[in-house]
This record gives sequence, structure tokens and C-alpha cells, in this order.
Amino acid sequence: MLLDTHVHTIYSIDGYATPRDIARLADKKNIIIAVTDHDAIKGSLRANSISKRIITGTEVSSGGGHIVALGVRERVKPHMSAAETVDRIHDLGGVAIAAHPFRTREGLGGKVDERFDGVEVLNARSSRRANAKAWEHFSSMPIAKIGSSDAHLLEHVCSCCTSFDGESAEDALEAIRKRRTEPVGRELDMGVIKELKVINFFIFVEKMLGVRDGHNL
Ligand SMILES: [Zn+2]
Ligand SMILES: [Zn+2]
Repeated sequence: MLLDTHVHTIYSIDGYATPRDIARLADKKNIIIAVTDHDAIKGSLRANSISKRIITGTEVSSGGGHIVALGVRERVKPHMSAAETVDRIHDLGGVAIAAHPFRTREGLGGKVDERFDGVEVLNARSSRRANAKAWEHFSSMPIAKIGSSDAHLLEHVCSCCTSFDGESAEDALEAIRKRRTEPVGRELDMGVIKELKVINFFIFVEKMLGVRDGHNL
């Protein structure tokens, strides 16, 4: 079955899909999706209340770089060190995945160690070069190898994702804990990634101006 470990909604400042959109997509496509908004948990709780194919989570802005927490039901405090963030995620019963490790400024790079449950070696919004570097760097480390879309728009969900043996959200988390996952898909074209940055900027501005507020959708 397929799992997308890293998807954003309107609860992220630059996200566009609603929790309901994501929940419906998971049911329609029969895939497992983790909702992981930036330093926020509400969108994932909302999506999880609509579909059992949704894993709750959040993307934590740790001091060292972004860390995806899956299977947690509360927000994890940002700006702690990477080690403290991983410990906190484990205390909450979740799994910790290093997001896009070689993306400039937002990734942990070589600071990812075996305390992590997994690492994104294929992120649809990272460059092919950054993903290749992640694969090369982490292929021999005994942590789960993860593919994710990092989608901010509905149509990009599962453009890259993770294959696992099982049928449920619980099976997906267990597969990560046991390091039995396989990344699948390919990154978006650079032109699309650049367009997304522009779209994300306008969504951000609209929200700042109060033109767009879909939090009740
Ligand atoms: Zn990120
Ligand atoms: Zn993200």
C-alpha cells in the first residue's frame, strides 16, 4: 500500500488544500496520508476525524532543520535542538522523520543520526541533486527510507510516496518503526517547483491580508 508521510493543508501558512479535501482523497485513492502542517496540529486532527486513512502529525521547525512527527496528537514545540525534538516526538508515542535533509536552510543535513526512525531520501519538492545526495548519505544508515510529496496543493499528493506492507495507518507507522519502507515516485520538474514557490507566496500574502481564511472549511 502507499503512504504519503508529508502533506500540508490550509493550517500551514502556505498550504492550499483543506483537511476535508485530503481526507476525501485518502479514501478515494485508498492510500494513507499523514497531514503535517508547519508547527500546527489542528488540520491533521480534523482530517483524522473524517478518515481513518489519515495519520495525525506535524512538521516541526527544530533548531537544526525540519522534522516530521507522525502519530502525535499535539503540537511539538519549535526551535528545540534536533535531539530534543526527536525525544519529545518519541515521548508522545510518535515516529520522527528528518525532512528533506539536504534542502538549503530547512534540512538537517548530516546531523541526522540513528535516533531518527526515518529520513526522506525522496521529497517531491526537493531538487534531484538534493535527493540523490540524501540517498547516498543515508543508504547504509539503519533508519527507514521515506518518499513524500511535501504537497501544498491537492494535485501533488503522493507525487512521491512510500510503499509498505499492510492496510492501515497503524500498519504504516509500524512499517516505519521496523524500517520496512520503500520510497517510490520522482520529484516534480524544477519549473513546477519554481511555480509552486510563487503560488505559495501569493497564498501567504492573501492570508496575511485576511483575504483567505479557510480554517473553518
Ligand atoms: Zn519542510
Ligand atoms: Zn513540508
